Amino acid sequence: MPELPEVEIARRNLEHWLQGTAVTAAQADRTRVFRGADRSAFERLRGRLAFSRRRGKTLLLGFEGNQGFLSHLGMTGKWVCRAAGQGEPYSRARLVLANGTVLHYRDPRQFGRIHPAPADALEHLPDVRRLGVDPLLDRLDARALKAVFGTSRAPLKVALLDQARVAGLGNIHAAEALWRSKLSPFRPAGALTDAEWRRLATAIKASIRFALSRETDEEIAYVEEPGTPNPFRVYGRAGKRCFRCRGTVHRVRQGGRSTYFCPRCQPGRRKS
Ligand SMILES: [Zn+2]
Repeated sequence: MPELPEVEIARRNLEHWLQGTAVTAAQADRTRVFRGADRSAFERLRGRLAFSRRRGKTLLLGFEGNQGFLSHLGMTGKWVCRAAGQGEPYSRARLVLANGTVLHYRDPRQFGRIHPAPADALEHLPDVRRLGVDPLLDRLDARALKAVFGTSRAPLKVALLDQARVAGLGNIHAAEALWRSKLSPFRPAGALTDAEWRRLATAIKASIRFALSRETDEEIAYVEEPGTPNPFRVYGRAGKRCFRCRGTVHRVRQGGRSTYFCPRCQPGRRKS
């Protein structure tokens, strides 16, 4: 599932593919991807890219003439670049470019979303305004984390997934950041010391930079896809040895999701 690093790579790819060319046609299939949106506004899109931005896991693309759209990749969404005439399975929307390529939005499960809006209105959409601190765009330090989590009684792992607090973390990077900072996923978020907030802030950024640094392909692979190697320290490694202490990595259900952690490195019991 795409988290901040994959979305940032998608943004860079789109910017690269759209550089020096222009959209000559746009197609939007009648699918769930356009739920609640004006599909025809997407199909009217033409011209050159004006900007590409990312906030948390949300992409914002602006085009000349104040056109634009928001793209959220959901669970299985991807933007891919193909030669004109080449098919793409699960393609839900397409931008046809003057240089003979086509950008497909492919999304097998359709949890992703495309929402056309005027370019200057994208940042003001409710889905964007509600997003919290972005670890790459904003200053993410102990003070910022304390400000957003300070009074929360939610367990750390659950709190870290709340996009209104820190935007961009998902199940993978929440687990990775907690392992890197040696913090238990079950600790109440509001109970951390200043030193622990500092460790967590450093760990969040380190986990995201690590994922960004290893994305070299134009096509992003999600770790849940068959055949994709798992580069992570703790995520997806239940029953395997902890890279730090050689203890065993555990997996539990927490807030309806899997939480991976090393009980020896990340002490702190689960309540209930
Ligand atoms: Zn360990």
